[in-house]
Amino acid sequence: MSATVIDGKKVSGEIRAEVANEVKELKKQGINPGLAVVIVGENSASQVYVRNKEKGCLEAGIKSIKYELPSETTEAELLALVEKLNNDPRANGILVQLPLPKQINEEKILLAIKPEKDVDCFHPFNVGRLMGGGAKLKPCTPSGIIELLKHYDVPLEGQNAVIIGRSNIVGKPVAMLLMQENATVEICHSRTRDLAEHIKRADIIIAAVGRPKFVTKDMVKPGAAVIDVGINRLETGLCGDVDFDEVKDVAGAITPVPGGVGPMTIAMLLRNTITAAKEQKKEA
Ligand code: NAD
Repeated sequence: MSATVIDGKKVSGEIRAEVANEVKELKKQGINPGLAVVIVGENSASQVYVRNKEKGCLEAGIKSIKYELPSETTEAELLALVEKLNNDPRANGILVQLPLPKQINEEKILLAIKPEKDVDCFHPFNVGRLMGGGAKLKPCTPSGIIELLKHYDVPLEGQNAVIIGRSNIVGKPVAMLLMQENATVEICHSRTRDLAEHIKRADIIIAAVGRPKFVTKDMVKPGAAVIDVGINRLETGLCGDVDFDEVKDVAGAITPVPGGVGPMTIAMLLRNTITAAKEQKKEA
């Protein structure tokens, strides 16, 4: 039997439509949500991400304020821009696209963004709130994963979730969110022994490794939900971390690449931007 294919494009479209409706309502109350996106240098993948974020804003009626800085921008110059945006009421969210050129310390930049405008949820204050369970802004890719699982009625409570990858952007925060949904969570990584044995026990597999077709059919328990976060650029096109063609025959549900987790990330970013706008209005 073939797995249910989890359609991230469709679900993200629904969320974007909800966001657009909410933006209309907010505008009636005099709230005009805005997102500042800063890109430094010429990284081609980053250019694509930023273009997609801008397009997402436009479609949802969110004002997009884009800053394109040259690759030789200094840390002081970028810090000055972040400070300016921190004080700019038109920018409810600030997103500095990573990676940054090597002369700029990423951590310093992320720390400089006001936590209430940190729509990526990378600031230690927001990471701490995520740990405590009281986060208003949630990290985009991880919260997009939870939305997808819920949308397809994948049971989470009491289920064994195995995450492959321990990055600050995906692995660790998605672990936290799954734990808040009462899943039993295991985080595997490059030093995990007998990785396949861990994966085999999972009811839910989250693959965030960055290696094409890393998760194969023999590692997957029949009926498991498989979420593929990986984006690997091959000559033949985009490919996930899961061997989709094989694994779909054994999984219960599976996300494709492209069209799975990727579109959710932007939808959740838009949602965070309006959450930030509403919170800032309350405090104004
Ligand atoms: P990362 O490179 O920061 O982390 C990769 C993780 O994989 C590490 O924690 C490492 O321990 C683990 N790993 C590496 N080799 C392993 C092995 N042999 N066995 C077990 N674990 C191993 O990556 P990241 O930022 O978390 O991203 C992972 C993938 O997800 C990338 O392909 C990235 O492009 C993609 N990504 C997609 C989205 C999206 O919106 N869809 C968002 C973020 C990242």
